[in-house]
Amino acid sequence: MTLTTPAAPAAPAATELLDADFYGFQHQLTATEQAAVGRVRDFMEREVRPVADDYWDRAECPVHLFKPFAELGSVGAAWAETAQFENSAVFRGWVGMELARVDSSFCTFIGVSSGLAMSSIGLGGSAEQRAQWLPPMARGDLIGAFGLTEPLSGSDTARGLRTTATRHGDTWVLDGAKRWIGNATFADVVVIWAKDTADDQVKGFLVRKGTPGFTATKIERKQSLRIVQNADITLDGVEIAEADRLQGIDSFKDLANVLRVTRDGVAWQSLGTMIGAYEAAVRYTAEREQFGNPIASYQLVQDKLATALGNITASLAMCVRLAQMQDDGTQRDQHAALAKAFVTTRMRETVALAREVCGGNGITLDTGVARYFADAEAVYTFEGTRDMNQLIVGRSITGHAAFV
Ligand code: FAD
Repeated sequence: MTLTTPAAPAAPAATELLDADFYGFQHQLTATEQAAVGRVRDFMEREVRPVADDYWDRAECPVHLFKPFAELGSVGAAWAETAQFENSAVFRGWVGMELARVDSSFCTFIGVSSGLAMSSIGLGGSAEQRAQWLPPMARGDLIGAFGLTEPLSGSDTARGLRTTATRHGDTWVLDGAKRWIGNATFADVVVIWAKDTADDQVKGFLVRKGTPGFTATKIERKQSLRIVQNADITLDGVEIAEADRLQGIDSFKDLANVLRVTRDGVAWQSLGTMIGAYEAAVRYTAEREQFGNPIASYQLVQDKLATALGNITASLAMCVRLAQMQDDGTQRDQHAALAKAFVTTRMRETVALAREVCGGNGITLDTGVARYFADAEAVYTFEGTRDMNQLIVGRSITGHAAFV
C-alpha cells in the first residue's frame, strides 16, 4: 500500500479569513433578520467607516447620521409600537455588534438613545408615554439620553443617588447633578433618575431639551469613545409635569429591569469591538513583512490571532444564548451580569492582542486597531464595572451580597 500525503486544503478566501463568526451563529437569524443586518452592515461600511477615525480624532459626533441610520428600521425593534417586522433579541444584539465592529462610539451614540432611553420608556412608561415617545425616537426624529450616574455615585447608584425629586401637586422639582451622560448636550429628551424625597425611592423623569434649570456641559479630554459626547449635567429646580414621570417606575428594582436589558446590549457591543480589532489585525499581519515573510506566517502571531478568535467565538455563543433567554423570559440579572463581565474581559484581552501584533503601528489610528483598543476601556467600565457584575454573579452563587 502506498501512503500519500493528503493534499493541503485550499487557502481560505480573504472574506472567509475576515469572517469572525467562526461557528456560523448567523444561522440563528431568520432570512428577514439577516437581510436587515446586511443593510446595517452596508450602512456602517459606507457611511461610518470612512469617517470614524477623523470624528474620533476631533472628538466630534456625526449626529446627522442618526436619522439615516434610524431609517434602516432597526431602532425600536424591541417594541410593539415601533418594530417593523417580527424579530428576536439575537437580531437586536447582532445589530449592536455590527455597529461596534465598525465603531464602538457610534454604537454607544445610537445605543444610548435606542437602548437606554427607549428601554426606560418601553419598560417603565405608561401606554400613553410609549405611544407618545417611542415612534418619533424609532424614526430618528428625537434622540434620547439616560442620566443615572452622578459625580459622587457611580457603582453605588442603587443606594447612593443624591439627585432629588420633590412633588408639588402635579409638578415635580428636580435638583442635583449627573456625570458621564452620553448624548446629553444635544438630546431632545434625557431620562433623569432621582430619589423621591417623600418615599426615598428612585423615580424616572423625561426632561425635554431646553427645560429651564437643566444644563449639560461636555466632558473634554476623554481618551476613550471620543466620538460620544458625554456631559456633566446640573439640575437646578427643574420642573417636570407628573405626566412626564415614568409611570411604571416605583423603585430601583424597576430601573434594574432596564439595566438588565441594556447590559445584554453592552455584551454585544464588546463583542463587536473585539471583532473590529481582530479583523484589522488579520489584515495587517497578512500585509506586514518581517524577516522576509508576512508576519501572519509566524507561529507566535498565529497564536495571538487564534486566541482572539477563541475569545470572539466563546463570547458570541454566550451572547446568543443570553439573548434567547431574554426572549423566553428566563434571563435574570446574574445572567446579564456574567455576560457583561466575561465578554468585556475577553474584549480587553483581544484588543490588546490585536494591538500587539500590529507592533508600533498599532498605536496609530491608521492601522485600524488603536481606536478599538482605546474604546474598550470605557466599555469595560460602563453599565456596571467588571467588579460590580462579578459581585452580582457572586451573590447568586453564594447567597451573600458582598458589595459593602
Ligand atoms: P466608581 O463607582 O467610582 O468605581 C471605581 C472603581 O472602584 C471601579 O473599579 C469599581 O469596580 C470599584 N468599586 C466600586 N465599588 C466597589 C465595591 N463595592 N467593591 C469592589 N470594587 C468596587 N452613566 C449614565 O448614567 N449614562 C450614560 O450615558 C453613561 N455613559 C458613560 C459613558 C462613558 C464613556 C463612561 C466612562 C461612563 C458612562 N456612564 C454613564 C457612567 C458609568 O456607568 C460609570 O462610569 C460606571 O458605572 C462606574 O462608575 P464610576 O465611574 O463612578 O466608578
